[in-house]
Amino acid sequence: MAETLIFKNVFLIDGTGSEPREDATVVVADGRIKEVGGPAAKAPAGRVIDLDGKTLMPGLIDAHVHVGNIEIRNHLTAQLPPAVYVLKTCRNLETDLDLGFTTLRDAAGLDPGFRAAVDQGLVRGPRLLLSITPLAQSGGSSSVYGPGPDQPMVRNALGIYPEICDGADQVRAAARRTLGRGADQIKVFADGEVLSAQAADRAKPGQSKFCVEELKAAVDVAEAAGTYVMAHVYAPRAIRNAVLAGVRSIEHGNLMDEETAGMMARAGAFYVPTLLTYDLLVKGGKAIGLDDRSMEKLALVGQSGRRAVELAHRAGVKIASGSDIVGPGQDRKGEELIIKAEILGAMGAIVSATKTNAELLNLDDRLGTVEVGKLADLIVLDGNPLKNVGLFADGRKTVRLVLKEGRVMKDLLD
Ligand SMILES: [Zn+2]
Repeated sequence: MAETLIFKNVFLIDGTGSEPREDATVVVADGRIKEVGGPAAKAPAGRVIDLDGKTLMPGLIDAHVHVGNIEIRNHLTAQLPPAVYVLKTCRNLETDLDLGFTTLRDAAGLDPGFRAAVDQGLVRGPRLLLSITPLAQSGGSSSVYGPGPDQPMVRNALGIYPEICDGADQVRAAARRTLGRGADQIKVFADGEVLSAQAADRAKPGQSKFCVEELKAAVDVAEAAGTYVMAHVYAPRAIRNAVLAGVRSIEHGNLMDEETAGMMARAGAFYVPTLLTYDLLVKGGKAIGLDDRSMEKLALVGQSGRRAVELAHRAGVKIASGSDIVGPGQDRKGEELIIKAEILGAMGAIVSATKTNAELLNLDDRLGTVEVGKLADLIVLDGNPLKNVGLFADGRKTVRLVLKEGRVMKDLLD
């Protein structure tokens, strides 16, 4: 049983978007937030922690990660010796926790064994919501790699394959198999990709994948199982198809226009912009071995992400937060908040990565804000991120304490 913790002198950013509170008291017991009050709040016996000069806030959530994509190219990840692959993936999970991320939604590729290992305490890591095998159509996807037509490629050395499926019936079956493997949500590739490079690749962003009927089949299966679909999309046509089919989570969306932003707002879809990964790849893609074709595609979508967030924000779309790092640089996930703050302000960026992400993940009854009764996923930052959002860049140092369900996962408080 985790000990009772009483945080005093708290500068509290509660994740709801309301003004921060000064000199608050927050009590954590039995894994939950038991009390949020003023300096005179009644507190039970327990470890008293004075947070003078520091900020207490909800644990961060990253709604689009690929913790198991160790190399920038999937086929290179697949060639890693299994032990190396597992250890590097575990290191990513530990780092994410150290950066202050207490929950991750993996956007495909991670074997459910990692979730089991975290749950059993074999590895120190965030709570994991997995997509496991993504759904992709025949042809034109980086998930398809090999000499033969539509030869499925191993997503990592533990044997995660994409599901190649065409037509509503196959999509339904693939979605059901994926849920059967333990997926928390269904990921579909509904638009061209940036990182596919085979000579015959025709999958540019803008060449939408799956028709509405196919996407709707995935949505029906997901909803029947009490979950939802997240769709990889860039351009208006793919966004429109996804929204019409009832997709809940629109990923990337870099080439969104005003009309599709309005559609998303009316449908109540969530937008998960992933700005950091494009910044890193546009700047550093060549150096890490991306070919000309991928660099061309990056030029097409890389710069437009900020405009898409502005359009979505203006249209009133719920803006969530994901970093989407593949390959090296997995320790830079916190920088996503800094880029989002350019458009949404520091508080807006924090809300997107806490409260809104929790809503997207259907976990808002338990996570995302510092409120009585919620699970005690909390972090302590050394400073005030509303004044210096740059604190998120260096979470390994600036995040001084991480609690997951009331358990201390990292403690650099002195
Ligand atoms: Zn992704």
